Amino acid sequence: MKHELFEFLNTDLQFIKGVGPVLASRFDEVLGGRRVLDFLLHRPAYIRARGVTECVTDATPGDVVTIPLLVMSHRAGGVFRGHRRPTQIVCNDRMGNTVMVQFFNVNFLDYWLQKLPVGQWRMISGKLERGGRPTINHPDFIEEMQHADKIPSIQAIYPSGEGLTQKTFANVRDQIFTALPERLRDSDTDICEFFDALRHVHYPESNDDLMANSPYMVKLAYWELLAHQMAIVISRRSRADARNRRVVRPKKYELLSRFYDALPFELTGAQSRTVNEIFTDLGRDIPMMRLVQGDVGSGKTIVALAAAIKMAESGAQTALLAPTDTLAQQHYAKIKPMCDKIGIVCDVLTGRDKGVCRREKLVSLRSGRTKIVVGTHALFSDDVEYKDLGLVIIDEQHRFGVSQREALRAKGNNPDILALSATPIPRTLSMTIYGDMDVSIINEKPAGRLPIKTTKLSITRLDELLARLRPQVDAGAQVFWVCPLVMESDASDMTAAHARYDQLCKIFPNTGLVHGQMDKKQRDAIMARFAAPDSDMHILVATTVIEVGIDVPHATIIVIENAERFGLAALHQLRGRVGRGNMQSYCILLYGRGIGEDGLRRLDVLTETDDGFAIAEQDLIMRGTGELLGTRQSGWINYHFVDYARHRDLFKLAASAARDMSSPSQTVRDLMFIFNRGVGISA
Ligand code: ADP
Ligand code: MG
Repeated sequence: MKHELFEFLNTDLQFIKGVGPVLASRFDEVLGGRRVLDFLLHRPAYIRARGVTECVTDATPGDVVTIPLLVMSHRAGGVFRGHRRPTQIVCNDRMGNTVMVQFFNVNFLDYWLQKLPVGQWRMISGKLERGGRPTINHPDFIEEMQHADKIPSIQAIYPSGEGLTQKTFANVRDQIFTALPERLRDSDTDICEFFDALRHVHYPESNDDLMANSPYMVKLAYWELLAHQMAIVISRRSRADARNRRVVRPKKYELLSRFYDALPFELTGAQSRTVNEIFTDLGRDIPMMRLVQGDVGSGKTIVALAAAIKMAESGAQTALLAPTDTLAQQHYAKIKPMCDKIGIVCDVLTGRDKGVCRREKLVSLRSGRTKIVVGTHALFSDDVEYKDLGLVIIDEQHRFGVSQREALRAKGNNPDILALSATPIPRTLSMTIYGDMDVSIINEKPAGRLPIKTTKLSITRLDELLARLRPQVDAGAQVFWVCPLVMESDASDMTAAHARYDQLCKIFPNTGLVHGQMDKKQRDAIMARFAAPDSDMHILVATTVIEVGIDVPHATIIVIENAERFGLAALHQLRGRVGRGNMQSYCILLYGRGIGEDGLRRLDVLTETDDGFAIAEQDLIMRGTGELLGTRQSGWINYHFVDYARHRDLFKLAASAARDMSSPSQTVRDLMFIFNRGVGISA
């Protein structure tokens, strides 16, 4: 790849005009990265037509309208007798029909009022609310009439998170694609063709352009699969090369038996079997490459820890890689006391560690004193050195690319690799996706766990649900209440979550709220309060998907609103937030009015089974064309363009193309760089 292009793809989004550090970190949360490259891999989900309507009665409630309106008067909002009232701008359309424009969040009120002076016409674009008189809440666009053409007639809608508007996405996209041709000068034609396909997908002319079978999507999916399959081939070859070059370690079991003695429980049969499989691998002459699959709560961490302790006992180090800071800290909090008991030095290393503290940690790793280190991608930063890295454990492995795994592996001398995953993958796909790994399955929950009782319920029966929660909460139950932001950072979604929170607060005073616009510290503090053993918080309303793996053993109820908008695997994972202790747990899937027959049938899969593999299989079949919430977090692999159900033929094509390549061409190496998000792979 040419240097200019490489540098451009690696540019931090904060340096793009109109972005800055705050938005860049929001992008980081949504895209899973904050560089130009990460943005390019994030594609619009659908397009929205914003045709101009002159008269509000011609528009269908629920649709997005773009309409010229004359501002008649302002009515300030505020809190009146305990009720929050929005600020209202009363407007008329050309036919004299009244249209209300409402703002709930009063922070930027002056700004909005200035944009809508009384007596002036403005072109306004936003969703026309259903029911009641014509109302637009938080319009997406407000333009003076002479700038009405700034409102796009076709708008690509990106899956987003809180605090990021579609306008920000469009701005970043436009700047990237304006700068791109310059950076692509003299690049080879294949790479140019790749970026051309990307451009088509980022500037769709119709929803067809975004369908799995559009020519651009097919091309991108093939390239993505080729990059992935090539990485697998390389990893398999290097593992075979490692035969005979492997460090033989002494077999000792003393610390291990002390560890087992210190455990407050017995391993389940599935856990013991998995530990045995791992120990057999550790004794072989080629490095271990094992994936442990098991539902949330099946107890993968202990299994991994047993392997780490065995490593430590033979003098080698283990790095445990977690996808987020929070998860890394949580693992550390659990593992540290156990290590202390048996005298193994354990540490944590994330992006938060800076300065002296970080340096000290690095010294301890380099000297070999630290035997187990838990952390995020900080674990494979350039300046991190290990004395003898024997084992790499990757938690929630689908959140990482093959190359990231390889980058960490390169820190040791052919270390063993153990990947953990809570997302069962359908057997039909497992070979192509994890072609280079052996698989252990933990299909047994720790003794005493009761299956989670799952029911589906229409949102129209909310009152009934609240009445049923009352005695449970009084008896001390803790409830997760998930209010997802649906697709966009729609202000009205946020409003809905706040309204639900307000409503719940009135009934259950000890209710907390976490959302993505809060700063991380504040959010973590609330999460920690909810998770504390003697927590006084009954209900936690969360607008973001609760982090995979967060452990709140006392939570016994989870309510998921708009359940129909989630993928099945994502729902199954969310449901796994409860049922972690020995008490009976419940999952209530609240569905909206718009749900159809198919939607109800999808939810039935969850009420009928608890088997992650069966659910995964159904997810694949029933996924449908729409982008579902949570698919990124719960996918088997973070493919960006590949559709598991619709691109099955491409899997085989890409796999055989990769196998036939004795070493990857420059283009394939570039593709590997791009799809593995810039983590290099040594071929
Ligand atoms: P996973 O990572 O698979 O979601 P964890 O390893 O976090 O699961 O384990 C979930 C909970 O179950 C933890 O609190 C852990 O201490 C507990 N646990 C693990 N194994 C057992 C067991 N065999 N018996 C009882 N509790 C267990
Ligand atoms: Mg886990």
